[in-house]
Amino acid sequence: MSVFAAKDARCIACEGSVDLTIEPREKDLGDFSVRRVLPAPARRMVGPFIFFDHMGPARFPAGKGINVRPHPHIGIATVTYLFEGQIMHRDSLGISQPIEAGAVNLMTAGRGIVHSERAGDDLDRESRLHGIQTWIALPEDKAEMAPAFSHHPAASLPQLAVEGTTVRIILGEAYGQRSPVPVYSPTLYLELRIPANSSVALPHNCAELAFYVVEGAVAVGEREFSGYTMAVAAPGNAIKIRAIRDTRVMVIGGEPVGERHIWWNFVAASRERIKTAGADWKAGRFDPVPGDDEFIPLPD
Ligand code: MN
Repeated sequence: MSVFAAKDARCIACEGSVDLTIEPREKDLGDFSVRRVLPAPARRMVGPFIFFDHMGPARFPAGKGINVRPHPHIGIATVTYLFEGQIMHRDSLGISQPIEAGAVNLMTAGRGIVHSERAGDDLDRESRLHGIQTWIALPEDKAEMAPAFSHHPAASLPQLAVEGTTVRIILGEAYGQRSPVPVYSPTLYLELRIPANSSVALPHNCAELAFYVVEGAVAVGEREFSGYTMAVAAPGNAIKIRAIRDTRVMVIGGEPVGERHIWWNFVAASRERIKTAGADWKAGRFDPVPGDDEFIPLPD
């Protein structure tokens, strides 16, 4: 999933604790839609997060599903997290790993990896898919590291109750608990399920912080945020969010890692590195994905 820029981001005059909202651009991919939230014109990154895609919710008839052919990445780690459904991941390290709801697939591209994302063994029946794929820019001293992959089952992630809210810690540390998923720089990624009329204070130890309303609606002070909106916190502000309805919110944050260029599936601190990666893909110099011989050609 890639290539669509968010269409709209507007400043709301730094009022309250939120100073920017981002409305994603919805891209209809036939049987399902993807919402690109980051990068947005007004906001490229939040902490190390440079890419934020909301997939679905989608319902597929039997025989249909997600079907992303092998393609390369550099300079990032991809984090796949599902609410419903499953995706079969295959990569050039030789790993085949299905992911299901509540688990994390962390794929660290480093100097280069190739992967495909296709339907799981639910392909032969009607299925649903709903989740988030984010990309985290690697710090410069890790950008050319060897590629790596790790799978973290749902039961391995901390889950706790905070003032009635169910918190799952996907990356980093919050509310006194830490995710087992490795990070390369200070990073926070949480799923919050907030019952209607409950409030929860977001962690305030992040240099940069944003939340995204997956479903439901919340308020920060007088201001309301509905589904598919990302709200970026004003620096140094403590944010308390109150659910207007039963709500699912993702929280992202961390320390900035510096500016990055992003083109197609490549992220790097220099344009030259992205050009080299494109030439390498065109010339077949990336490792193949064992058992998956198709590929996505380099765009013009
Ligand atoms: Mn990918």
